[in-house]
Amino acid sequence: MNIKKVMVIGAGQMGSGIAQVCAQAGYEVLLNDLKPEFVERGLGIIKKNLSRQVEKARMTADEMGEVLSRLAASTELADAASVDLVIEAAVENMEIKAKIFAQLDELAPAHAILASNTSSLPITEIAAATKRPEQVIGMHFMNPVPVMKLVEIIRGLATADEVYQAIEDMTKTLSKVPVEVNDFPGFVSNRILMPMINEAIYTLYEGVATKEAIDEVMKLGMNHPMGPLTLADFIGLDTCLYIMETLHEGFGDDKYRPCPLLRKYVKAGWLGRKSGRGFYEYN
Ligand code: NAD
Repeated sequence: MNIKKVMVIGAGQMGSGIAQVCAQAGYEVLLNDLKPEFVERGLGIIKKNLSRQVEKARMTADEMGEVLSRLAASTELADAASVDLVIEAAVENMEIKAKIFAQLDELAPAHAILASNTSSLPITEIAAATKRPEQVIGMHFMNPVPVMKLVEIIRGLATADEVYQAIEDMTKTLSKVPVEVNDFPGFVSNRILMPMINEAIYTLYEGVATKEAIDEVMKLGMNHPMGPLTLADFIGLDTCLYIMETLHEGFGDDKYRPCPLLRKYVKAGWLGRKSGRGFYEYN
């Protein structure tokens, strides 16, 4: 299967990164969000990232211009009519994703592959919203997308082998490393990472130590590049909560119950770095 044109749905922190790496690898990219100002914000992040690479002489100004020329803005899902691959990176919410995939199924060409960057939601359930479940797959990029090498590729129950192969090959063209996993709540990455972050939040909630101390123990003691509370702010506390809820519901096991402090912060709108405040404050 020949993938030339890609549509990325959701121009937030993940969608803008995915659009950037696809455009850098030579794909034509449509970056879609609900409102023009959301797409502009995403394109602004990409320009800032590329400018930094030009400043560091990792890319020329001409190359940056070429990458930007391959990116176009979209606020209509109907634009999917011209693409070979859609990568959805909207919010982590099954109702929203199922609605997007049902619409994409009507709008995208018959050959198009529909991928989701979901952190934890079942690919099989997302695929069931379409009449082409064999062409639905998970492409779980890591944050920040331009920097992180891994893409977890998740096979839904019905994902066809050719579709898996096409996405594995395409991922390599982005200079990323694909790793194959099966469709279980949280896949591999968040099944292991998120309970650790949730436990760090419980540790803070129960007054075992300050947030700085918790992060320091995990950084210096376990050789993690950043502490779990800093990482939670980086991921987004709303996304962390959605993932814990998916694990809790998916396994029906209380060991995955989200910490009440995480719920409280999300209700307060303290979503981490992206909202200016989470466990820490950001300017
Ligand atoms: P974000 O809040 O930064 O961005 C989400 C974007 O989607 C927003 O711009 C929003 O306006 C847009 N959106 C919402 N509904 C939409 C719709 N119907 N159509 C088009 N756009 C819509 O969130 P994010 O951190 O970029 O996460 C996006 C997805 O990526 C989630 O599924 C998340 O679980 C997953 N993910 C996140 C991380 C992370 O570290 N943040 C890592 C891997 C995967």
